[in-house]
Amino acid sequence: MDSRARHILDLSRRGALRGALALAALSACREGRAQGGPAMAGDPFRLGVASGDPWPDGFVAWTRLAPAPLEPGGGMPAVAVDLTWEVAADPCFTRIARSGMVVARPESAHAVHVEVAGLDPGRPWFYRFRGFGAESPAGQARTAPAPGATPARFRIATGGCQHYEHGFFTAWRGVAAEPDLDLVFHYGDYIYEGPGRPVGSRGWGGVVRSYAGGEAVTLDEYRQRHAQVRMDPDLQAAHAAHPFAVSFDDHEVENNWAGPFSQRHGDPRYPAGATVESFALRKAAAFQAWYEHMPVRAASLPRGPAITAHRRLRFGRLATVHVLDTRSHRDDQPCDDRGGPPCAAVVRPDAQMLGAAQEAWLGRALADAEGWQVLAQQVPVMPHRSAAGGISMDKWDGYPAARARLLAPISARRLDAVVLSGDVHQARAGTLHAAPNGPAVATEFVGTSITSEGDGAELPGRAEEFLGANPHLAFLHARRGYTLLDFAEHRVTATFRSIAAVSRRDMPVQDAARFVVEAGRPGLSRG
Ligand code: FE
Ligand code: CA
Repeated sequence: MDSRARHILDLSRRGALRGALALAALSACREGRAQGGPAMAGDPFRLGVASGDPWPDGFVAWTRLAPAPLEPGGGMPAVAVDLTWEVAADPCFTRIARSGMVVARPESAHAVHVEVAGLDPGRPWFYRFRGFGAESPAGQARTAPAPGATPARFRIATGGCQHYEHGFFTAWRGVAAEPDLDLVFHYGDYIYEGPGRPVGSRGWGGVVRSYAGGEAVTLDEYRQRHAQVRMDPDLQAAHAAHPFAVSFDDHEVENNWAGPFSQRHGDPRYPAGATVESFALRKAAAFQAWYEHMPVRAASLPRGPAITAHRRLRFGRLATVHVLDTRSHRDDQPCDDRGGPPCAAVVRPDAQMLGAAQEAWLGRALADAEGWQVLAQQVPVMPHRSAAGGISMDKWDGYPAARARLLAPISARRLDAVVLSGDVHQARAGTLHAAPNGPAVATEFVGTSITSEGDGAELPGRAEEFLGANPHLAFLHARRGYTLLDFAEHRVTATFRSIAAVSRRDMPVQDAARFVVEAGRPGLSRG
């Protein structure tokens, strides 16, 4: 048995065979390259396709022309190129529902974002592009249910923190094979901006994967990072299989940036520093490259260093996903962003994590919300204290007043709220409390990483101590993987999928734990 067949078998044991078959069907319909397979040299579609931000009547269909993805300009001539796009009801494209032309421009790295509209709700759709003498692989998207509908289920996977140098994206291959996902939420760290390892050197777990070049600062450097990551066949397969809602965290720009401030702003550890003005230019470059590579709507087109990344996706009356941006509008981390026992500045009553406008936007929606409220964001909301009382200032822990304002409407209206986050490279599950020792008001699922920090371990070091200091935590797991959440009217079932090693290819995806949250009763029970 070849490794691919064995891989599919392993996935099927986890009940994901239908998804794998759907992917196979997608490629079997067509001549030419298989879905997620290696592209030919000179193929302008080497970065694959992606869909995102599904609405009841459509979605974003994305691709970027780049026959030489790592070169400046992606190997394209500096001219505009016409592309044809097609959306079909079947994977063989015999029933075309919508089609059109779109111009790929050199100003935006020949990336295109087609906002497909006018489709029927709540069903799969297939899309592809043609142009520059080639045809793209086909992707599968799915429209959201009709606004008034109550679908039987809403199924979402979450993943993020995909350090290219730290291992293979086996978790994304697993996501690709999951059947019937309505959405994949990416909680950020799509790229890491730090200096690359020397090419050919062995990194985490002996893996030979290097970002080319030094720390990413310029537009071309950020573009190169995104292109390199996007050439990964497992990541491409996940994008081709399901619509994503992507967000960004810190590493799409710079470690631990905050609003207008670089991490290096006024920090004695970085004597060269960074001014607000210089960091605005860096953000503009990073956001442009991010936008160019993500299947997001034009509403998230950056204007220099400013970007609107928060948005709402509705899945009938069953679930509403509030995609939040906890980076762009926050105030600077208190206490010089030093972990440990908090300084007095932590308790500032005006602490901003979402910023006033985004906070009001969320508050208005929660004021007359129905169904499951999914807060899809980046850094953990739950408190995480070390046994010595230390906290990380970069999480909501550094912004407790903002956290209290976030939870207030959820608590007051007894909403069924589920918080999704990432950032800490560990899977965690636990409850959120409006007051210390008070009742749980919401449930949080922290995703681990796709690869960041390498293979990891079942349990992180000092796990007992950490669980003891954080009684609201029900689960801790430090392997790589992704999280799957199945929403039904009366309960959510969350499954942490885990991979024993990302330093080796084709490892099986296994279930690490399963939890159930009942509607009307925030909290976790083992499923
Ligand atoms: Fe990360
Ligand atoms: Ca992060």
